[in-house]
Amino acid sequence: MNNTPMTTDELFRDDATLLQCTATVLAIDDGGVVLDRTVFYPLGGGQAGDAGLLQADDGRSVAIVDTRKHKERPGAIAHVPAPGADLSWLQPGQRVTAQIDAARRQAHARFHTATHLLCALVPHPVDGCSITAGYARLDFHMSEPLDKDTLSAGIARLVAEAHPVRHRWISEDELDANPGLVRSMSVQPPRGLGRVRVLEIEGVDLQPCGGTHVTNTAEVGTVVVTKIEKKSAMTRRVVLGFAEPAARPG
Ligand SMILES: [Zn+2]
Repeated sequence: MNNTPMTTDELFRDDATLLQCTATVLAIDDGGVVLDRTVFYPLGGGQAGDAGLLQADDGRSVAIVDTRKHKERPGAIAHVPAPGADLSWLQPGQRVTAQIDAARRQAHARFHTATHLLCALVPHPVDGCSITAGYARLDFHMSEPLDKDTLSAGIARLVAEAHPVRHRWISEDELDANPGLVRSMSVQPPRGLGRVRVLEIEGVDLQPCGGTHVTNTAEVGTVVVTKIEKKSAMTRRVVLGFAEPAARPG
């Protein structure tokens, strides 16, 4: 692998509603397919990576099953192809349309926004977080018991109140002046870029976050607490799920 600097423009950071973009292939390597720009969110901050499709104008395509920050190319994003996928038509310079699995992303965004609502309801530091399309979990550093129904009702209230959700960039100096902004013990915001992305749920929560969210808490819909576990003396794990029944065949 050569050391040519290769970075991916992260379109999802400024507009998480984008479902597709055109892009140019920069490299294909063990990490996956690297594009010059993408709407695919890479695993990070507890949120799972996107899946989707890279497609050429002539219809050739490759399914992407996961997205990761490239291990060997800082600033590059690796689109992980499905096992056994034919990549022979993909060459550096190839133009493609990068399209995410919208349903999977919407599930991530709903759960991710719900974890912020949970942070507003449980005023304790977070020491772990995982967000998938099927569930989300948040570990709080605390010893007091939590009540499932009370938290579900709290989330439902914040969803019904339809608070706008938006991000903005603040300087690292501004962040240092407000240490209370950082709610998570395990995930510190990325440093050294001069600015930090903060996510604001108007009147509810404000914290550094690089993930993808819905644009209004109303879109979180019917997310409920499905389980509360005592993981250790100082850890309470809250698991979130969708309350709507899963689609069943027949
Ligand atoms: Zn977030």
